[in-house]
Amino acid sequence: MVATNLALSLKDRLRVQLLDCDVEEPNAHIFLKPKITQSEAVCIPVPVVDEEKCTHCRRCAEICVYKAIAVLKNKVLVFPQLCHGCGACSYLCPDHAISEQGKEIGVVELGRADGLDFVHGRLSIGEAMAPPVIRKVKQHIDAKKVAIIDVSPGTSCPVVEAVRGSDFCLLVTEPTPFGLNDLVLAVEMIRKMSIPCGVVINRAGVGDGKVEEYCSRDNIPILLTIPLDARIAGLYSRGQVLIDGMPEWRQRFLNLFDLIREKTGVLHS
Ligand code: SF4
Ligand code: SF4
Repeated sequence: MVATNLALSLKDRLRVQLLDCDVEEPNAHIFLKPKITQSEAVCIPVPVVDEEKCTHCRRCAEICVYKAIAVLKNKVLVFPQLCHGCGACSYLCPDHAISEQGKEIGVVELGRADGLDFVHGRLSIGEAMAPPVIRKVKQHIDAKKVAIIDVSPGTSCPVVEAVRGSDFCLLVTEPTPFGLNDLVLAVEMIRKMSIPCGVVINRAGVGDGKVEEYCSRDNIPILLTIPLDARIAGLYSRGQVLIDGMPEWRQRFLNLFDLIREKTGVLHS
């Protein structure tokens, strides 16, 4: 909700891209309804073993930290679902018995939505490797535009990959013990990555004041508060954009962007 409304509020002022990097369950397209014009497969290289050349030395199994390759007495087994496509096994096989084959794990789609550049990634069902899809989405960032990246919740590898290289990170939370727990972890992660951050409190009024206390104590600015409001929930549940249903929110998202710009010193024309 924050990413799409921020992007749509800004588009008349600046050139904006919205990149949905929540590749396990992207949903920005439900609100933006983009016209997709381009689609790119995302592949990782997985090993293929030539049994004629293999001497069953076990080197590949020893160096694969993901346990994606196992060597039996007379056979080598590859588990493509576990393979991270790092290339170490083919590089280090002493008998040059391993070649690589591209395996499709997802797709990146590009298009336009209501004056915005739109990009999202979709990880194929059953695949676990979100970071390569996220990296492919981020290859489409245009440095001349404001890139707003929607990121999955939490602090897992896909989140780190999506956030890496950002000028600023907006942490969206809610004022509950669960929200506070996840916020503390997210702040720890963002600080390790040396990215400035601020907080948006969503569903304000649903819980207690502990998130505000934490932000004040740790000097983290709260840049926007979105109240618990049945009209906002209704718009969201119908796949409608908040600033269309409640236009007074447009200026609030513009103010949010101005605060971020002040804090980062990053200018876009
Ligand atoms: S490293 Fe090469 S030769 Fe050794 S077991 Fe693996 S595939 Fe076979
Ligand atoms: S490419 Fe990397 S992750 Fe995949 S099997 Fe080889 S060593 Fe393991």
